[in-house]
Amino acid sequence: MANLLNGRVLAKKLNQGTVKVEAAKLARKPGLAVVLVGEDAASKVYVGRKTLVASRVGFEHQQITLPVETSQAELLSVIAGLNADDAVDGILVQLPLPKHIDGTFVLDTIAPEKDVDGFHPVNAGLLAQGRPRFVACTPKGVMELLRDADLSLSGKSAVVVGRSNIVGRPMAQLLEQANCTVTVCHSRTTDLEARVRAADVLVVAIGRPKAIVGDWVKPGAIVVDVGINRLDDGSLCGDVDFEGAVDKAGWITPVPGGVGPMTIAMLMANTLASAQARQA
Ligand code: NDP
Repeated sequence: MANLLNGRVLAKKLNQGTVKVEAAKLARKPGLAVVLVGEDAASKVYVGRKTLVASRVGFEHQQITLPVETSQAELLSVIAGLNADDAVDGILVQLPLPKHIDGTFVLDTIAPEKDVDGFHPVNAGLLAQGRPRFVACTPKGVMELLRDADLSLSGKSAVVVGRSNIVGRPMAQLLEQANCTVTVCHSRTTDLEARVRAADVLVVAIGRPKAIVGDWVKPGAIVVDVGINRLDDGSLCGDVDFEGAVDKAGWITPVPGGVGPMTIAMLMANTLASAQARQA
């Protein structure tokens, strides 16, 4: 039976420990602005959680909710205002944006020194070069989970399934920088099963419920399931068949309670780091 990588417990420890303590030492509280466009139900839940945790760790926070018909120009003007506001250390635009808005164009206008999501090309480029500033919160949270469990990564075979800019790609870069030998799989990968079977460290971020069969997991492997999928009965599950994998893995994240809370904790850590840098 695998050991659980419990993100809920670690996130609480980090939020209530370092982040809250260090934030209280600053002359001005860290400020986080979260922008939500439209009425997407899941986005509303995520934004609500982020602002709740921000208040618990003692940050100033504001949620800017814009109607779904907001134009791209109006959204850009909101972001320009936040870029210019000295009380705002971190800006987050909740994804997905409505279809009439070019998300990439919009995210590129966030000041890189306030880009606490780590999606701006400047921050993505710094990570790619191995000199990270703001690292995307989900992969950063995965690395914290592995570090906290004191798992050795150097020389291990890592397989990352998914290559999005917000999860898979930065995840692969972080694992490579931790001296894993990394294989990145995606929708065109042939023989996914064989690649998964070879993984000492497996990170899955594809958004397909239970797509990774438990039996594929290498005995003793570290399995990190980033996926969050809602099933017809309303329950949540990951991209890995947890029940099948838990007896084979050495370590595994649950869904929910694994990577999700760590993503929010890393958003707080990045916002704190921004506030510290901007007040230095
Ligand atoms: P994207 O849809 O942006 O990317 C999905 C990736 O998975 C793509 O690279 C795609 O390949 C690949 N893929 C899709 N189907 C398969 C398949 N059958 N086999 C192999 N690869 C496949 O998703 P995200 O990266 O944004 O999110 C992935 C999952 O993680 C989602 O469930 C999301 O909800 C969850 N998530 C969870 C977070 C958390 O805090 N826990 C935070 C962010 C996301 P290709 O590039 O070829 O299209």
